[in-house]
Amino acid sequence: MLEVSREPIRDLAALDTAHHLHPFADMKELVEGGVRVMTRGEGVYVWDGEGKRYLDAFAGLWCVNVGYGRREITEAVVAQMDALPYYNSFFATTTAPTARLAAEIARLAGPGLSRVFFTNSGSEANDTWLRMARVHWATLGQPDKKIVIARHNAYHGSTVAGASLGGMKHMHEQGDLPIPGIVHIGQPHWYVEGGDLSPEEFGLARARELEEKILELGPERVAAFVAEPVQGTGGIIVPPASYWPEIQRICRKYDILLAVDEVITGFGRLGSWFGFQHYGLTPDFCVIAKGLSSGYQPIAGVIVADRVADVLTNQAGQFHHGFTYSGHPVAAAAALANLRILEEERLVERIRDDIGPYFAERWGSLADHVMVGEAVSTGLLGAVQIVIDKATRTRFSRPHDIGMIVRNFCIMRGVIVRASADRILVSPPFIITREEVDQIVSTLRAVLDYVAAELSSD
Ligand code: PMP
Repeated sequence: MLEVSREPIRDLAALDTAHHLHPFADMKELVEGGVRVMTRGEGVYVWDGEGKRYLDAFAGLWCVNVGYGRREITEAVVAQMDALPYYNSFFATTTAPTARLAAEIARLAGPGLSRVFFTNSGSEANDTWLRMARVHWATLGQPDKKIVIARHNAYHGSTVAGASLGGMKHMHEQGDLPIPGIVHIGQPHWYVEGGDLSPEEFGLARARELEEKILELGPERVAAFVAEPVQGTGGIIVPPASYWPEIQRICRKYDILLAVDEVITGFGRLGSWFGFQHYGLTPDFCVIAKGLSSGYQPIAGVIVADRVADVLTNQAGQFHHGFTYSGHPVAAAAALANLRILEEERLVERIRDDIGPYFAERWGSLADHVMVGEAVSTGLLGAVQIVIDKATRTRFSRPHDIGMIVRNFCIMRGVIVRASADRILVSPPFIITREEVDQIVSTLRAVLDYVAAELSSD
């Protein structure tokens, strides 16, 4: 292993702040605050250059699902690099891992979803299905059927189309987004927006906004609806049970393609291989990334329903779209090794039957805390909503500040969590033990106790 002494780590941090523009960062703040150089990982733990160990309750960025330090993946990557480090899939060519991976994904996705288009990132995958949906309808003689309906507070990536599909106001404000042809409806976020409605009533009301929007625009102009099965970046927002069946009904009724963005929920996180299986949906596009390779290599894609892929393959002619690294053999080899681990260790079943229910019970126990409005979970995703007043569901006036305070104290105590405004999010690796779940929950509770005591002494 590469040993790194303290001094070079400081140098590295300095080099980084001088030269590296970080994603989603206020660079001025980052330069002032400094960066932490992460140097190694094993299991659910990562270490920084100062030798401090953290329990990574966020699996990197929702992705290191099989945990760090998996030799099987490293060996698969090295073997593929030795054999053939790169070849494209443009010239009527493919590679062994690329072809095998496509077949494996199709097998896991199940009937009716037998084709995959590979990309490097979730953002590119969203751009991909959007173009594909429009080509689909144009090929079928409906070139005007091209508007996509998405949701406020959704996250679908950072490319121009990805950020437009997403419903993040702060992203739209930078660079004239959304682009034309993309419109947004409300999110099924009952705790914050549900008012006096019950969660089930609210879920139905929010789903029916889709129908209202389709009728307003005209079904002959609407190509697709896109959503994350459970909103991730927006705050791990688990929709009321009434929501998804109604969305599916509406998409079918008006012949609107359904795109599920499973960048976070795909490959087991909810205790099913895919979120669409968890919710009993029949999507036309399923966006995959992160958990496909557990982050060991950048690889993503879109699983395409046969009814769309058949039009594309039989009638559309050339689809003028693709990336140099679409189906990259080394990334595909990493993904194959990752899927093998998930299956051999039965990690998805483990979430469904064992660690998921345990996590739900322990995470749910945080709901009794004075600062916690709700503590929700599904599979191995958990969110805590911080509030000032539980009875009235009143939030802090500066939600981002309170979220960052809680997040930072957790990290200082050695547990990495993420804040989405005033929601604290966790998305641990699938191999997490019961003791480690307990540690996440007790650390967060201790931090909330501390912050509550500080606030009441002000
Ligand atoms: N969709 C969803 C639901 C995501 O969570 C993300 C990333 N967090 C993306 C798309 C974008 O993926 P990428 O960062 O790989 O472009």
